[in-house]
Amino acid sequence: MLTACLLLAATPLCYWLLCLVQPFRKCRRCAGTGKTERRGSIIVCPRCRGERWQLRRGRRLHNAWRRIHEAGTRERPARAYRN
Ligand SMILES: [Zn+2]
Repeated sequence: MLTACLLLAATPLCYWLLCLVQPFRKCRRCAGTGKTERRGSIIVCPRCRGERWQLRRGRRLHNAWRRIHEAGTRERPARAYRN
């Protein structure tokens, strides 16, 4: 039971670390080649637009959260130094 709880707690942490270290993953549609086949002809992958990499879902969520946070917070006033 304790192992299951630790595993449940560690899974999102591991995914967060993965998103931090490696924010991009290979495109699933073209398997990282940038090209895919449609009706017998090879075309540029429409999902990754030939770039072969995609941003991970967790990283996209983090970026959206950061954008919202920055839009909703005021800039800190410059610190006044007393001399
Ligand atoms: Zn692709």
